[in-house]
Amino acid sequence: MVRKKCSRCENISYSLSAKGRWICPQCGEDLTDAPLLALDRSTARVLPVRSAELGPPDLN
Ligand SMILES: [Zn+2]
Repeated sequence: MVRKKCSRCENISYSLSAKGRWICPQCGEDLTDAPLLALDRSTARVLPVRSAELGPPDLN
């Protein structure tokens, strides 16, 4: 599922697919070119990034 927010009435509408024409059910605004919103954690997950380590151990 994907969702979009209407730029005119700010209604959030949902669809099974981002393909095809997307019309706001609330006000009739054409949302086909509106950006998709992240739906849940599965798409917004951010992996922790380790800071650079001090360097390779000295093998001498
Ligand atoms: Zn709308």
